[in-house]
Amino acid sequence: MIREFLELHGEYHDDKYFKDLTTLKMGGHIRHFVIPNSVDDLKTIIAFLKTNRIQFKVLGNGSNLVCGEGEFPGVIISLKRLCEYRIENDTVYAEAGVLAPALAVTLAKKGYSCLEFASGIPGSIGGLVYMNAGAYKRSMSDVVSEVLVLKDDQLIWLQSDELNFSYRHSIFHDHPRWVVIAARLRLEAKAPEEIEELMADRLRRRRETQPLELPSAGSCFRNPEGGYAWKLIDGIGFRGHRVNDVEVSEKHSNFIVNTGNGTAEDYLNIAYEIQDKVKEQYGIKLVMEVEKFNC
Ligand SMILES: Cc1cc2nc3c(=O)[nH]c(=O)nc-3n(C[C@H](O)[C@H](O)[C@H](O)COP(=O)(O)OP(=O)(O)OC[C@H]3O[C@@H](n4cnc5c(N)ncnc54)[C@H](O)[C@@H]3O)c2cc1C
Repeated sequence: MIREFLELHGEYHDDKYFKDLTTLKMGGHIRHFVIPNSVDDLKTIIAFLKTNRIQFKVLGNGSNLVCGEGEFPGVIISLKRLCEYRIENDTVYAEAGVLAPALAVTLAKKGYSCLEFASGIPGSIGGLVYMNAGAYKRSMSDVVSEVLVLKDDQLIWLQSDELNFSYRHSIFHDHPRWVVIAARLRLEAKAPEEIEELMADRLRRRRETQPLELPSAGSCFRNPEGGYAWKLIDGIGFRGHRVNDVEVSEKHSNFIVNTGNGTAEDYLNIAYEIQDKVKEQYGIKLVMEVEKFNC
């Protein structure tokens, strides 16, 4: 019955695995996976799942998730088809499924400064808004003007100051059933060469300092107030620490990477050990930035 309903409103799959849908490349089978055909279909699907008390989760580009090996019995909704964007005077309207690095490059070519800080963040606009993702002292809260939200079966616009943005946090953390449909981001005109140079410089820095050649979910921990998680991890001697196929990167110790057939269990064992040792040695509670799901 679930399958038949989802097939009416999108592209349905029963053979998807989190390991193929996340940048960390870990995680088990997804019983129902759907890519809704349109926003109306998404609305209908979510209303149906809520009425029937069926678990669901919206997936962006899977770049901040650590997913467990067990089967997820509910429905994973991909917003891949919400991938339109258009420039409107001094803003860009971008749907949730648009990938941030691609949009950053397009805007730069057209001479619009906006997403330079996000050009190396491998997420979707929906995921970036959800996380208030950021880098180089800039984050989504600096550029988001408003967000179109599917909230309690209604589409509404929320203004930037209504989104409770703070460090790697937004209102969506407190309302896991709300869905970001699109966002309007503020643009500033600049010479394309200037924007492209800045982006290239930042990508070069990322390549030099982050293990981009191996699967990861980015930084495992948030930086504690006034400090850096990687320094604390180095301080407890965990750079290079390994459990089976999961390793604290030698290149950047706040990245925990999958060197082969790593599992969420191994990943979390390392993360919890780091939390315990950092607490013991420094009295600081490191908070995970990556999200555990189905673990
Ligand atoms: C190599 C690498 C580098 C990274 N660098 C950075 C960095 O510099 N700065 C930074 O902040 N992050 C960084 N990240 C982490 C990650 O890219 C960001 O957290 C990003 O915002 C996640 O977006 P996503 O689309 O992949 O979301 P996902 O991982 O798919 O989902 C994350 C959460 O957002 C929710 N979500 C996704 N889309 C929607 C939507 N439309 N509506 C409601 N909820 C939604 C999901 O349900 C989930 O809870 C990095 C990751 C990697 C792998």
